Amino acid sequence: MKELVKITNLAKRYNHQDVLKSISFSINEGELFSILGPNGAGKSTLISLILGLSKPDTGEILFEGTKLDSDSIELKTMISVVFQNSILDPDLSVKENLFLRAYFYTNNWKQAKQLAKEKLADVQASHLLNKRYGVLSGGERRKVDIARALLNTPKLLFLDEPTTGLDISSRADMWHLIHQLKEKYHMTIVLTTHYMEEARDSDNILMLDAGKMMAFDTPETLKQTYHCLTLEDVFLAIVEKGRENYECISL
Ligand code: ADP
Repeated sequence: MKELVKITNLAKRYNHQDVLKSISFSINEGELFSILGPNGAGKSTLISLILGLSKPDTGEILFEGTKLDSDSIELKTMISVVFQNSILDPDLSVKENLFLRAYFYTNNWKQAKQLAKEKLADVQASHLLNKRYGVLSGGERRKVDIARALLNTPKLLFLDEPTTGLDISSRADMWHLIHQLKEKYHMTIVLTTHYMEEARDSDNILMLDAGKMMAFDTPETLKQTYHCLTLEDVFLAIVEKGRENYECISL
């Protein structure tokens, strides 16, 4: 598999706190990659560094083998991100929000409308076109946010905790959608979550805790290595591995 992002010895400090400590890993083209860790583990900080929104204290990030400036057109066209706090305007309709943004990419109203409608259909949300964004449910908003992020057909889509705050059925719906989009666009999808089990269908998993890289492997290898049935137990096993006679809860 081709390496899309290569991260070497990345470290970040905020106010004397080591938020990320010497992180190294790669993300391959076309994979579903999950960054797991409890709140405060450093997941959002890592994403901000990859997106160029903040600068690492040490380390290097390469995209397809090249160091890209955070303002570069290549980076902007290659990556899209959906943060938990939407950038869409709650007072505008879904249509207005998406048409305006699609126009940035097309410079042509007819094409912009077509592009926005196409991406809204991709997330199974065409029925929301005329609704005001501000009145949508959490799950509906998340879908429209993803449609917005797809407007530039990115190679790499970042989803920051895409299922946080959603009910169980909306979470299942969101996962179904993530897999569908990955298939349709052969896109690399990187997501963060603190729901360990949600990452079981990922190609690779990076586990972070208190800024430290605890593990980086496929879900199956992680479970085999730590003799655990669930990823949650793998995480607990890793965190507790200093403790003598640790046994996985589910075994
Ligand atoms: P996660 O996304 O895993 O919940 P974050 O990356 O948001 O974790 O935060 C990791 C740690 O870094 C936390 O202790 C947080 O308080 C701290 N942190 C994050 N951003 C900043 C910042 N801009 N200034 C100071 N501390 C920060």
